[in-house]
Amino acid sequence: MNGQTAEELLRETGAILEGHFLLTSGLHSRLYVEKFNVLQHPEYTEKLCEMIANHFKDEGVETVIGPATGGIILSQVTARILGTRSIFTERENGKMTLRRGFRITPGEKVLIVEDIVTTGGSIREVVDVVKAAGGDIRGIGLFVDRSGGHADYGVPGNIVFPLVRLTVPTYSPDDCPLCKEGVPITERGSHHLKK
Ligand SMILES: [Zn+2]
Repeated sequence: MNGQTAEELLRETGAILEGHFLLTSGLHSRLYVEKFNVLQHPEYTEKLCEMIANHFKDEGVETVIGPATGGIILSQVTARILGTRSIFTERENGKMTLRRGFRITPGEKVLIVEDIVTTGGSIREVVDVVKAAGGDIRGIGLFVDRSGGHADYGVPGNIVFPLVRLTVPTYSPDDCPLCKEGVPITERGSHHLKK
């Protein structure tokens, strides 16, 4: 496994899937990202978190934080490698917040981690939580940025470190090259997009 790139690890575990997918938006896509295909393998998850930890090892990080659910796993693993505390945010009445007695003290150096970013919305909410507590955001580490690099996290772009950047083109059914080729379609992602 040594020497493999993050993208190779994600493809090997099926976290990045190629095919012909029907999204609940009704659009078709040739790529699908299923984060738990990698998160179910601690060995691979650790490898990816090591890449993130390594990138931020000189930032004096004191606490790693991620949004539930996937962010909890990344936070635990990354914090274990960095030797820091690990906490997570979760939603309460739709609002991202710190619960369970978690606190960030003013000036505390914080690393934010997340598995897959589509629009960056959840990360931006975590950024707000950390800023509101007076935390010092030293970086944001991501497994996959599938926004095509367009996500705005409300922090300087140079502290954001995605292991993999993906652009995922979507097609309307009338205009889908995969449909035209007769590639069978798979329905994916309904559980992600359901409101
Ligand atoms: Zn199609």
